Amino acid sequence: MQRPEEHYRYREPAPIKDKLNPFDSMMSRFNLAAEKLGLDQGVYNVLKSPSKQVIVSIPITMDDGTRKVFEGFRVVHSDVLGPSKGGVRFAPDVNIDEVKALAAWMTWKCAVVDIPYGGAKGGIRCDPRQMSAGEIERLTRAYTQQMVDVFGPDKDIPAPDMGTNDRVMAWVMDEYSKMVGKTEQAVVTGKPLVLGGSLGRVQATGRGVMVAALNALKKIKLDPADVTCAIQGFGNVGSYAAQLLQEHGVEILGISDISGAYWNDSGINIEEAIAYRNSNRGTLEGFSGAEAITNEELLAAKVDVLVPAAKEDVINVHNADKIQARLIVEGANGPTSADADKIIREKGILVVPDILANAGGVTVSYFEWIQNRLGYKWDLERVNRRSERILTEAFEKVYEAMRTHDVSMRIASYIVAIDKVAQTYEYRGGY
Ligand code: NAD
Repeated sequence: MQRPEEHYRYREPAPIKDKLNPFDSMMSRFNLAAEKLGLDQGVYNVLKSPSKQVIVSIPITMDDGTRKVFEGFRVVHSDVLGPSKGGVRFAPDVNIDEVKALAAWMTWKCAVVDIPYGGAKGGIRCDPRQMSAGEIERLTRAYTQQMVDVFGPDKDIPAPDMGTNDRVMAWVMDEYSKMVGKTEQAVVTGKPLVLGGSLGRVQATGRGVMVAALNALKKIKLDPADVTCAIQGFGNVGSYAAQLLQEHGVEILGISDISGAYWNDSGINIEEAIAYRNSNRGTLEGFSGAEAITNEELLAAKVDVLVPAAKEDVINVHNADKIQARLIVEGANGPTSADADKIIREKGILVVPDILANAGGVTVSYFEWIQNRLGYKWDLERVNRRSERILTEAFEKVYEAMRTHDVSMRIASYIVAIDKVAQTYEYRGGY
């Protein structure tokens, strides 16, 4: 294999510019892994470039009779391993750079857990909170129509992401099915259960975070029953991770959401916190089972395990030095900035990176697609057992790569993923 050329070598970002754009943030890790692998320059060029970028204008009639045009995106980063897979995001600030980065992350995430998918991502620049259900339905159907040649159960399979949910996926499935003249459940995952959704999909990402945390605790020889934990973000990922970790004996001392953080030296009752959030318009604000602290204090708290499960770049050059946890399990996508990686590693903290730690969701999406194609339904026990096996095998592979290459677990996960896609690409060949 040819040595990588100088121009893609990792360069230290400037020390204070902590917020890289998402594509640069992905590339800074990709470059480090490519260099360690000695990736062929030609293959490097192929893997860094998205294979397809589609931008559409979507005109729809609003409820008040006016016509509005929305911008929609779908980026297929890679279909080397199989049909591409990735969510569709509805948000006011979605842009092509963000979608490109997220699509590439999906390629590496699917590759690291060894499921036969490439990576993609989509988005529509809109504010779903300001739109009626009817407007969102028309927008979703029109977007699906425009993407009919991109999507397909053997081509590109969307899923929910920020601002979209199972309801939106049902519209994608229905519109696509009408256009191809047959019911095609496997064109999209994250659907409602009655429409071919999978048991266990809702809890799948939080469950995967729990599996990653328990696997990592075993490596650093800590018994879950003696371990304390703080979790940032109490939405889908954070609250299920908290609940499942607590069920395994881990003491959850701190939790948080956008309203602030909540701390209890004697441990928080997660069932109570979830019930409180559900009865309080989805927020922990005013939760009385704990003392109020700030999100920054939560990140720096004296716990064994920290689970960032809210948003990107929350661990950065300004606070990385203050982190006391021995283990970080990344439930969120991109919660640690590229610059903070180095500080965290120097402190000897083990980080189970996002593309491995939160891959439980895409793994169960894969099971949903399999079940749709088989016309069969798995019980919950089978879903959980198979997902745990896939995630644990991936964990072991990444852990071994970390030791072999003497890198962080993050770079090791990129090494495993890039190596797999590169080898597959070499076999498939190009023009
Ligand atoms: P969610 O909307 O259900 O929950 C997000 C939580 O984070 C909420 O409790 C919110 O209040 C909190 N939050 C937002 N901003 C915050 C801040 N500044 N400080 C502290 N808390 C804050 O979202 P989710 O589905 O749980 O996703 C969380 C993260 O996990 C995202 O990065 C997402 O991309 C990633 N992720 C989710 C899935 C999935 O299946 N849901 C899969 C893979 C990765």
